[in-house]
Amino acid sequence: MKNRNILISGASIAGPTLAYWLRRYGFNPTVIERAPALRKGGYKIDIRGAATVVLERMGILADVERASTDMRGASFVNKANKPIATMSADFFMGREGDDVEIMRGDLSGMLYAATCNDTEYIFGDSICALVQDNDGVHVTFERGESRVFDLVVGADGLHSNVRALAFGEEAAFIRYLGCYISIFSTPNYLNLDHWELFYNAPGRLANMYSARQNKEARALFAFTSPPLQFDRRDIGVQKKLLADAFAGVGWETPRLLEAMCDAPDFYFDSMSQIQMDRWSNGRAVLIGDAGYCPSPASGQGTSLALVGAYVLAGELKTACGDYNTAYMHYEQELRPYVEQNLTLGQKMAKEMVPDSQTQLWFRNQMMRMLPYLPWKGLITKSILQPLREAANAITLKDYQ
Ligand SMILES: Cc1cc2nc3c(=O)[nH]c(=O)nc-3n(C[C@H](O)[C@H](O)[C@H](O)COP(=O)(O)OP(=O)(O)OC[C@H]3O[C@@H](n4cnc5c(N)ncnc54)[C@H](O)[C@@H]3O)c2cc1C
Repeated sequence: MKNRNILISGASIAGPTLAYWLRRYGFNPTVIERAPALRKGGYKIDIRGAATVVLERMGILADVERASTDMRGASFVNKANKPIATMSADFFMGREGDDVEIMRGDLSGMLYAATCNDTEYIFGDSICALVQDNDGVHVTFERGESRVFDLVVGADGLHSNVRALAFGEEAAFIRYLGCYISIFSTPNYLNLDHWELFYNAPGRLANMYSARQNKEARALFAFTSPPLQFDRRDIGVQKKLLADAFAGVGWETPRLLEAMCDAPDFYFDSMSQIQMDRWSNGRAVLIGDAGYCPSPASGQGTSLALVGAYVLAGELKTACGDYNTAYMHYEQELRPYVEQNLTLGQKMAKEMVPDSQTQLWFRNQMMRMLPYLPWKGLITKSILQPLREAANAITLKDYQ
């Protein structure tokens, strides 16, 4: 086996999953994470279709199912908090079979626990330069001593550092989908019981759901906007952008925005995709959001990260570490699945935050009538079909 020493940037979902499989195949991965410790925050995320097979082959699907959010359902409400339409959680999130919903931080913690005993993790550092030659990749870090690795993998998310260093500026690959999204913890002051509420105004979406066995809640806000210029590290500025966007919108938004001030886990980003013609450059390669973020609207980012990590590790094993062959096959195996999910993400982003009162009215009427329509099965199927197809658009090889 060649090229055993592999540096992975990012310890969220894609990074630890890749470390797990590489280790199992006899490679020697090191994971570097910019945050000082594993990041616990984030929304509830769905794992669907092919991605559940990855968790099953890792032997952690049952644990993930035990930690599932157990949401029962969702209601779309009006300004006075009266339900317009109510539906079951499985229907609403398009889940079937082994599909499961879990808090992002819980999944990340499980993947870390499955790898931390035999994988070197470095927290609180970041790569600042990569120089490739025939011997490997010479890596300079912001804090630690320089080291040489055989391969470098970017699993460092939408704003990937490895992508910027090995492929060029983010602007060449990021496609803004027209809205911003924010998520943070809040007290469950409405006493929601495994339930979530959605309130829409034109160009605005506010969502609140119970979490951690109803002991807490999470708020999600999304709003349409032309691209905004802001410092991604300045949380104060991001909180102000959100508060301004929701000023006067009503429903529970004033109270939720008040809770935002003390939230320990505020998350704010553009709803964007990463679209690239190739995911490798020499010894460097990208997985997960770093290479093909489908956007949170797709509900498929975590599944793509799990599947991408599994396929890359498997192809490296099959090619005995020959990265040229492995990267080529990784790309061939994954590309159709990724493309289908990117298309899904674009469609879902448009539907997530209707921009006009008319669009909202039609959507609300549709949701209200759906349970009573004789052909509701057909309509439901046609709404959920693209998601199910995208989630299953790859047949995973058994690399063992
Ligand atoms: C704290 C957090 C909260 C999130 N919340 C949501 C959410 O609520 N809803 C949603 O749809 N998606 C959310 N995401 C994104 C979601 O996790 C991903 O879409 C998906 O799981 C793909 O995972 P990934 O591992 O490819 O990328 P990510 O989950 O984005 O992970 C990237 C990792 O790389 C690290 N990193 C970034 N830059 C560097 C660097 N220079 N050096 C080293 N490490 C670096 C980050 O700290 C992070 O741990 C969140 C991500 C994070 C990190």
